[in-house]
Amino acid sequence: MSPRHDAVVPAELRSALHELYRDLHRHPELSMQEERTAALVGERMLELGFETLRVGGTGVAAVLRNGPGPVVALRADTDGLPLAEATDLPYASTARGTLPDGTEVPVMHACGHDTHITCAVGAASLLAQARHEWSGTVVMLFQPGEETSAGARAMLDDGLWDRVPHPEVVYAQHVWPGPAGTVELSIGPAMAMADAWKVTVHGRGGHGSRPETTVDPVVLAAYIIVRIQGVVAREVAAQSAAVVTVATVHAGLKENVIPDTAELTVNVRNLDAHVRDRVLDALRRVIRAEAEASGAPEPQIEELYTFPLLVNDPAAAAEALEVLGGALGADHVSTTPAMMGSEDFGHLPQALGVPGVYWFFGGTAPGDLEGPDPVPSNHSPRFAPVLEPTLSTGVVAAYSMLRHRLTDVTDR
Ligand code: ZN
Ligand code: ZN
Repeated sequence: MSPRHDAVVPAELRSALHELYRDLHRHPELSMQEERTAALVGERMLELGFETLRVGGTGVAAVLRNGPGPVVALRADTDGLPLAEATDLPYASTARGTLPDGTEVPVMHACGHDTHITCAVGAASLLAQARHEWSGTVVMLFQPGEETSAGARAMLDDGLWDRVPHPEVVYAQHVWPGPAGTVELSIGPAMAMADAWKVTVHGRGGHGSRPETTVDPVVLAAYIIVRIQGVVAREVAAQSAAVVTVATVHAGLKENVIPDTAELTVNVRNLDAHVRDRVLDALRRVIRAEAEASGAPEPQIEELYTFPLLVNDPAAAAEALEVLGGALGADHVSTTPAMMGSEDFGHLPQALGVPGVYWFFGGTAPGDLEGPDPVPSNHSPRFAPVLEPTLSTGVVAAYSMLRHRLTDVTDR
């Protein structure tokens, strides 16, 4: 039985973390553009005595070498999303950014990655303060570009594991609209694989009064959108998990001009590679066949990104249940089925062939979960985790998991 490490967040650290969180929340940055965030985080980690280095553009790796012993790692993602914040928070974001295609957009930490950064800095602070109690090496990874599935890859391509000590396990956590103070994790598959496509359908434009001279790409796109809703309903077994979502549609500039083209994006999620292949094949078939039915040329399908299946190593996840239960109270920790959201975190442990464990911590005041309306979830412009006990829970969870693996000096 390993020793239990009762962690509490001292009041002074807690208020410093709240200040850091509000600052990060006010200043979100788009994927792979997290310059201010990287500079701020690098500075904080240096102050705590970590060696810091930039990896993968706006990624930061911070290493605390504290004698012989195990190497453990925690990853926090750092990017915001192109959304206009619609919370009433006094520290709401009014930031703007520019997407890679040149479009200027509002930016918001709508996925809560600002809580992940804050909790990682908090856990690092507790580890630095308690360095006389443990021996080993801690690697904190501040990963950019999670939302575009680019950041983990970028850090690996920039030689992450050639530049920092190899951990025996890599952890990560994500805030979600569960009750604040609780943690949930999956044993085995934890998050879905995802594919995103941009589909461009080509029609033939013309005057809105003379559709007979055109091939209307707006009508064609509409048929595709409706028809592909049937793929999950009619071509995937009820026991299998699949999601198909069309979240953007763009066509035309004027109400009486039928445009030449229409663009839509399709997002597909699965927990099984065979189901994924079946769904993607069906989508291609429907998209091509609807174009043919409209008398349009073959549409272009551009693959935007792929997220891998995220699997929690079963033994390491079972250990995590015990450690987190010890730190937060067993009644605050539970298991959950795999989520249909996606993550690129899995690339980091996979590249070393070591276990990865990923858990969720709640961000909703329990009273708010009882109201008639659903609590705004991640990616909502109204997503607003309560500060406490959300942040302290994330700090204690991260600290306890890292600390548990390090050598207890009092054991000697
Ligand atoms: Zn997200
Ligand atoms: Zn996220």
